[in-house]
Order: sequence, then structure tokens, then C-alpha cells
Amino acid sequence: MIEVCPRCYSRLGAPLKSGRLVCANCGWSNEPAASKTTISGPNRSPFVEILVQCWRIVKRTVTYVFQAVTQRVQEFRQVESKQLVKGLSSRLSALEQAIPTGSTDAPRWMTLEDAFRYLGGDPNDSHSAVSTVNGSSSLPFRRFRALKNPAEFRSFGLEADVTRRDANKPWLRWTDEG
Ligand SMILES: [Zn+2]
Repeated sequence: MIEVCPRCYSRLGAPLKSGRLVCANCGWSNEPAASKTTISGPNRSPFVEILVQCWRIVKRTVTYVFQAVTQRVQEFRQVESKQLVKGLSSRLSALEQAIPTGSTDAPRWMTLEDAFRYLGGDPNDSHSAVSTVNGSSSLPFRRFRALKNPAEFRSFGLEADVTRRDANKPWLRWTDEG
């Protein structure tokens, strides 16, 4: 770093912003006035420089915001759809539970035990048995619970929904004519 003007030997002040040293005494400078910086600087006007920089910032901001929003939306959708399904299924099962208490004549889904009780049996009593609609056979609970075929339940006046059984839901209900 030069501290003294090479032409007049007077002390040089702080360099200009451009880094150029100028002697306040004799006007010496360490760069000719028409240098590269003066061409690329003023010719490519600061205004354009600022515009270019602004554009880059805008682009970067838009990209960032878009990515952030997309990510949020995806997260929100995942969480929401999970909650929606959960909420919906719990609301539906609550509705399902609420319907039979509201209207007693609507067939409601029963567990195997409930169906056995509905037919007049006691699942806890090994001697208690229930009869088919036509009375041709009667079964204790241990045999009633072993029934698999919906047609066998139909003979007791019950409708069996295997899909509900497999989903661990109450799956038997009395048929309309029963
Ligand atoms: Zn000087």
C-alpha cells in the first residue's frame, strides 16, 4: 500500500471506494482515468446492475417461496387426509352406534354374543341354545360361534357380513323379515 504520493511525496489519504489512490495535493492517481473499471462501471449503468441483482433476488425468493409453499401444502395434505380419514371413520362408527338407539326397528350390527342373546340365548351358559327360524336345529354358543357360512346364519334369521367380521366389527344383524 502506497502511503506517499510518488509524484509530490505528500501524504495520501484513504483510497476511494473503487480502491483507487488519489493525491489531494497534485491530483496523481494510481490508475488512469479511462481504465477498465470506468468502461464497465458507468457504461453498464448502475441502474441495470441493480435491476439484474433485483431480478436474481426476486427469482430466488419466488423459487424459495414456491418450494416452501409446496412443501407445506404436501405436509398439510398428508396430515389432513390422515386426520380426515380418522375423523370420518370415527364419526361414521359413532353414527352407526347412534342409529340403532335412535330407531329401534332398524336392524343394527351385532357381535356374535349379541346375536346369540338376540336369539334368546345366553353366551355364558353352556346349556343355553338358540334355534333356527324353522326350529329344525338348535345350537349352543360354542357351536353357534363356529358358524362360518352366511347361509347358516340366514337360517337363524341373521344377515352375516364377512367383510365386517374380517374388519373386527359387529357383523351380524337380523334380517328385515326376521
Ligand atoms: Zn502528489
